[in-house]
Amino acid sequence: MIDIVFDHRQAITADTYTFWFQPTQPFFYTAGQFTELYLAHTGADDRGLRRYFTLSSSPTESLLGITTRFAGTAGSTFKHHLLQLKPGTHIQAAEAMGDFVLPKDTTIPIVLIAAGIGATPMRSMIRWLIDTNGQRQVSLIQAAGTPEGLIFQDVWQGYPLGYTPLVKRPSANFSGDSGPLRAAYILRTAPPDKRSLYYLSGPEQLVEKLTKDLIAAGIPDYRVITDYFHGYAVSI
Ligand SMILES: Cc1cc2nc3c(=O)[nH]c(=O)nc-3n(C[C@H](O)[C@H](O)[C@H](O)COP(=O)(O)OP(=O)(O)OC[C@H]3O[C@@H](n4cnc5c(N)ncnc54)[C@H](O)[C@@H]3O)c2cc1C
Repeated sequence: MIDIVFDHRQAITADTYTFWFQPTQPFFYTAGQFTELYLAHTGADDRGLRRYFTLSSSPTESLLGITTRFAGTAGSTFKHHLLQLKPGTHIQAAEAMGDFVLPKDTTIPIVLIAAGIGATPMRSMIRWLIDTNGQRQVSLIQAAGTPEGLIFQDVWQGYPLGYTPLVKRPSANFSGDSGPLRAAYILRTAPPDKRSLYYLSGPEQLVEKLTKDLIAAGIPDYRVITDYFHGYAVSI
């Protein structure tokens, strides 16, 4: 475990925040990886003191960031405690893990599919591409329940992405697509290329279903890379 110090909290939407931490020793990671935070607190519920979080920051940023959504009074004691953190508080983070990372071959077209809070690894990847002057072909389909849930727009704007927003419950002035996120929509929207890698990130059940459907539609399984977020219901 690595000691990290809480620096500040950044509001992303009314119920979603990025928490920024200063590591006390070098913290190595690749864009798209995740960590496990250990947050000691009294009166913990049965979900306990640890949670996995994607690093939504890029390795090019000086602070480590994780972004999470809060469920209000229905939330866990872990999240309640996270929200109460004071700047300067030390907590522990596991070394970065996971293979939800971009391929070394920069000529492979990338299709990123983010559902809800599943946009966190995409933020890390896109911010990394911006900061390292990446020249990859990247498409991003971002799905959310409402337009407000289309987080990290400021980051997407910094890279020449093929960007498609998809919202289940659009507002009157929303100009993107509306409807649920389905494999058929992904295949219709993403530029067809046999070499494309499809990165799916979001609530576990949704990612499982989309993976099965993409494979059934003829995308080889080794071209589908997934990141599952436990603990979120599917609303997209
Ligand atoms: C590889 C990986 C990466 C992840 N990355 C992220 C990320 O970047 N951002 C992120 O937000 N999450 C991420 N997650 C999910 C994260 O680990 C949590 O599971 C998720 O945020 C839910 O947190 P929570 O359990 O504290 O519940 P909360 O978010 O507080 O609540 C979610 C829902 O769970 C229910 N609930 C709350 N407490 C309990 C309880 N004690 N018993 C039963 N039900 C309860 C409530 O109905 C509530 O609506 C990731 C998970 C994995 C495996």
